[in-house]
Amino acid sequence: EQVDLHRRDDYGAIVESIQGITHDLMEVDASRQEFVSNVSHELKTPLSSIKVLTESLLLQDSVPEEMYKEFLQDINSEIDRQSAIVNDLLTLVRLEESEKSLNIKKFSLNELAEDILKRLKPLADRRNIELLLDTARDVTIEADEMKLTMALSNLIENGIKYNVENGSVTVTVDSDHRDAKITVSDTGIGIDESHFSKLFHRFYRVDKARDRGAGGTGLGLAIVRQIILLHKGTIGVKSKVGEGTSFIVMLPLQQVMSQEATG
Ligand code: ADP
Repeated sequence: EQVDLHRRDDYGAIVESIQGITHDLMEVDASRQEFVSNVSHELKTPLSSIKVLTESLLLQDSVPEEMYKEFLQDINSEIDRQSAIVNDLLTLVRLEESEKSLNIKKFSLNELAEDILKRLKPLADRRNIELLLDTARDVTIEADEMKLTMALSNLIENGIKYNVENGSVTVTVDSDHRDAKITVSDTGIGIDESHFSKLFHRFYRVDKARDRGAGGTGLGLAIVRQIILLHKGTIGVKSKVGEGTSFIVMLPLQQVMSQEATG
């Protein structure tokens, strides 16, 4: 079909569509810029602390040995923080480029949940948090076991981290004919509804100071979401401040090969 640039309608339509494309590109660029600026900020925070700690040691003529030790321990944990951020970033980048890299096999979701809870028990014990498993039936699923382990571990670790003394985290496993349903519920501090839309964004934290202090990287839920999306599943959240939070994951029991893969 010919486009007559002298006709106002066609011309207007083209200008509009170019404006639309430019707008989309600018949005992509803005979100990339925001991401880069977030990453820089997150990486600079531990560096600044390390700088302050080393300088204050260097500026003093004689430093008592205990003080040395204490400062070195602080420096050490800032380095750990920085590595954790870099590791999570690498995980996220790899997940975002790799739909075909899913390593799908069949396994028991009940056993997986049991194994993860066993592994996280020491962490929960330290905070006096009880871990509970509630299985309605035996669920066998086709999925990437390692990635699913990472996603569920992240949700349960959050349930432990953002809980209250003597609280609990309950994992529920169920299914219908099509989907597995996994719920991770805690009796913790809860999340106000106003945060729901941003909760899965990279580096989003409900309370910056508090949540950094809790030791997270702010990338956990972004990683969880990406893993669930790769499996063509969904994740939702329900919460009440002061009462607790539930993350509800739905995953197809079978992974249908994509058009490309089946040729
Ligand atoms: P972080 O590494 O800070 O835990 P996440 O991406 O895992 O980052 O979570 C993002 C934010 O969502 C957290 O900083 C916290 O504010 C909030 N959050 C996540 N899980 C829970 C939960 N179970 N209860 C309360 N708040 C939560």
